[in-house]
Amino acid sequence: MAQLIKKIKGTEDILPRDSYKWQFIEKVLSEEARVFGFKEIRTPVFEQTGLFVRGVGEGTDVVQKEMYTFETKGGESLTLRPEGTAGAARALLEHSLTNDGLPIKANYFTTCYRYEKPQAGRQREFHQFGMEVYGADSPVADAELICAGASIFERLQLQDVRLEINSIGCPACRKEYHKALKEYFASHKETLCGTCNDRLEKNPMRILDCKSPICKEIAKDAPKIIDYLCEDCKDHFEKVKTYLEDAGVKYTVNPTIVRGLDYYTNTVFEFICDGIGAQSTVCGGGRYNGLIEELGGNPLPALGFAIGLERLLMVMDAQGIEIPKPEAPALYIAALGESAEREAFSIVNSLRQSGLEAHFDIVGRGLKAQMKYADKIGAKFTLVLGDNEIETQKAQLKNMQTSEKTDIRLGEHFNSDFFAALIESENAGNLF
Ligand code: ATP
Ligand code: MG
Repeated sequence: MAQLIKKIKGTEDILPRDSYKWQFIEKVLSEEARVFGFKEIRTPVFEQTGLFVRGVGEGTDVVQKEMYTFETKGGESLTLRPEGTAGAARALLEHSLTNDGLPIKANYFTTCYRYEKPQAGRQREFHQFGMEVYGADSPVADAELICAGASIFERLQLQDVRLEINSIGCPACRKEYHKALKEYFASHKETLCGTCNDRLEKNPMRILDCKSPICKEIAKDAPKIIDYLCEDCKDHFEKVKTYLEDAGVKYTVNPTIVRGLDYYTNTVFEFICDGIGAQSTVCGGGRYNGLIEELGGNPLPALGFAIGLERLLMVMDAQGIEIPKPEAPALYIAALGESAEREAFSIVNSLRQSGLEAHFDIVGRGLKAQMKYADKIGAKFTLVLGDNEIETQKAQLKNMQTSEKTDIRLGEHFNSDFFAALIESENAGNLF
């Protein structure tokens, strides 16, 4: 026998028996996006490597260590998207979406690819839902976006979601801060990891986001950006907080959040849910006013967030949040013999045309095995058709929940309208 091929390390299959959970959260997220005024954007899974180097930032973990980059036959360097924002921003510029009027509000569902050490809540291919807003500078836009995140978690009934916010200011106020950070970290140069030593000169703020426990410990006592904000940035942050309070969204200020991507300015935030292990951040976001310019466009304020969908499902599972099961099939027809099979085929076709889920046997099972299968798939009703039923055009419809059996006439009477009414009434007896 040929050897089985296995899935790539750090990837997961979403199987037919579980896909309803994904469809459920996708539906809730899409609905929330709609009421907040967002429209979906879909961008390609691969882009020119330069887009992510510029859009995510050269000094970030994502660009330095985590990207799936490859060369095409033509010698071009491409990268599988590690996140959703850069592609959305590129599309905005490429299609001049700003001509459609501001703000532009776009949401996305994407797979992301990062070369990381796989563990619970950390995969190499994972899914994100993101919301992006372009063209809004006001702190009310930050508050509205954060509200959308809070509303999603509320709608999904998540418990104990913590919102932590911070402001990392603008390039101007960060200048002073960088100086203070450099000084502080320079005194710990020997203990910092190799990557952070490189960051010390180029971008000392990235050290604050390092995952190494030693660097994390050192970072705890580092100067805080919040103490270095310029008046405008301070004011912006204060207003975001006020609007959040107005909206009844609870938060704590965590001055250590800086986010992993380079293009962030002002507001940064995370929604954190303990109880799913070390990877407890389900959503990360903030403002990135420098991004569009970095990608060659005219300056345009921007903000957004991304929710890790695997982590979201982990939290829901850990908290025992029930995801509605798909509706049971309406009918299973157990058919024996060729004429019965043809009749069954015709009946299920007519029901399916009306949007009802109907099944009959296509793998050649015997009667007993067909009934067992009907039970397994949870069919609401079953119908047994054999030569006798075809000849008399009469059959028995069984309600699988109540075991009630009803005599029905095949043909004209047993059509989809009848069946839809039957499902509605859940009691065949009422219809005769
Ligand atoms: P982390 O600090 O956990 O590495 P990050 O800052 O790299 O997260 P973002 O780039 O902000 O994460 O992505 C947004 C969200 O996507 C995260 O909050 C998380 O829920 C999810 N996420 C990020 N990386 C992974 C991954 N490798 N596997 C699964 N989910 C992930
Ligand atoms: Mg990461």
